[in-house]
Amino acid sequence: MILGIDIGGTSSKFGLVDDGRVIARARIATTGHANDHAFADALAQEARQLAAAHGSAITSVGIGAPNANQLTGIIEMAPNLPWKHDVPLARMLSDRLSAPATLGNDANAAALGEWRYGAGRGIADLLVVTLGTGVGSGFIVNDRLVLGSAGNAGEVGHMTLIPGGRSCTCGRRGCVEAYVSIRGMLATYTEEGGTANVNDVKGLADLAHANDPAARRVFARSAEWLAIALANAVCTTGPRRIVLFGGIARNGDLLMAPLRDHFHASLLNIYQGRVDLTVSALPDDDAALLGAAALGTI
Ligand SMILES: [Zn+2]
Repeated sequence: MILGIDIGGTSSKFGLVDDGRVIARARIATTGHANDHAFADALAQEARQLAAAHGSAITSVGIGAPNANQLTGIIEMAPNLPWKHDVPLARMLSDRLSAPATLGNDANAAALGEWRYGAGRGIADLLVVTLGTGVGSGFIVNDRLVLGSAGNAGEVGHMTLIPGGRSCTCGRRGCVEAYVSIRGMLATYTEEGGTANVNDVKGLADLAHANDPAARRVFARSAEWLAIALANAVCTTGPRRIVLFGGIARNGDLLMAPLRDHFHASLLNIYQGRVDLTVSALPDDDAALLGAAALGTI
């Protein structure tokens, strides 16, 4: 049985995954442990208990975490986790659970989850883009996740969209993430003269459905910007399919309808008709665990 683990800033979820389904799940606090070793001890113990309660053994482990380097198996000084040093979590859990363990960053886990269990199943060349607080992405080429020379390939969110544009969390200006993340869309709402008190994408969608003109323009402009970013990304690895993940993509046709139009209009001619754009079909609650588990299958 594969153990999938999703390390988060306050709690870490884990679950047993069989044939693309999470059959048992639990969570422990990420914070409040004496150190990273105590955290790994507690996590391993709870995971063993979960497996024993279901009469199964853990055969492999996949771990999704922020700032995780898949090449080294190390979480590198993640700002939102309690440990301010490198944590070799793959080895620590592999030792404790006597099973091979693979660590990867959240966006790559999401990409593998879609490829193994979701809307990218059977697609050898795939791009998965997660739209949320930030914009993450993972490229699969010839049925392999692209890691790059340092384990950090696939940062569509930090491709420059508008030279000299809005400042980004990475310290640069004009990145895709500064425009089509939740934060970016809220900034667009203000720029477009929106006056309603809104702090999430659902709120923006509700306003757009209620014909708030600024909110409607947010979706129209975000679709244009994202279309350019995706059409540019297609030029790098030629994916057959792009899967969008996250609440931003799940607002019916508000984003997706104009996005499809702009995307096809922006695509290089040799890719026309050869790349489709779809939304993740993985269940929200289990997507991170399935992604983590997919890391345990490679
Ligand atoms: Zn950036």
